[in-house]
Amino acid sequence: MKLLKDIKALVVGLGITGKHLGRHAITIQYPEEKWTMPERSRGIVVLLSDKETGKLNCTGCLLCEKACPTAAIRIEAPRDEKKKRHLKSFVVDNALCCFCGLCEEACNFDALKMAGKYEFSTENKDDLIWDMKKLQEVGLDVPYTPRPKKKPADKKPVAKPATPKPPEAEKDQTESSSDDGKPKEIPSTEQEPPESAGPMPAADENAAPPVEPEDKKTPDDKEGQP
Ligand code: SF4
Ligand code: SF4
Repeated sequence: MKLLKDIKALVVGLGITGKHLGRHAITIQYPEEKWTMPERSRGIVVLLSDKETGKLNCTGCLLCEKACPTAAIRIEAPRDEKKKRHLKSFVVDNALCCFCGLCEEACNFDALKMAGKYEFSTENKDDLIWDMKKLQEVGLDVPYTPRPKKKPADKKPVAKPATPKPPEAEKDQTESSSDDGKPKEIPSTEQEPPESAGPMPAADENAAPPVEPEDKKTPDDKEGQP
């Protein structure tokens, strides 16, 4: 019984080996052969430059420095008299970096990227502190797709908040009060008859009621008509 079990295990093992006989080898001969890292791999922080001018895309806004949880990024970008920042120095301490990618997410200017590069080990920790020149140099051949620049016409107008209307009572009070705080005199709509016209004539009880014009009648009035 035990012999049969051993023979079965041997056949299963040989079957698995046979399945992989025709397939290509997964192992590569590193360091002669190297993997091409995927686009979104997080290898090392680099600075990106404009492909045409060669200038760094970084504006010195400090967003990446504030987003970094390990304080691996140190930026110096003082403002000029017009309050515009000018990038003076950009340092990344790769000994502190935990390769989280938060700096790349924070950047709005295609200026910083986690490149799929590796092999930067060293025996001296100070060599892991990269300055702006080194960061730009390593990032020169890193591909990236620049974001389309927004035209002024593409910007949507910002809706103004609606101003609250004053309550009716306040409005009435405001209208009826004068500048000196005293209530205004509301002019009377009833006109006094001129003195020359004499006393008002008394209403004739036998007189016929006034006839309303056709267009002033309500639909209810019209329904009652034959
Ligand atoms: S990858 Fe993370 S830890 Fe490294 S510099 Fe960027 S934010 Fe800091
Ligand atoms: S790399 Fe990006 S987020 Fe960091 S300072 Fe430069 S522009 Fe700002």
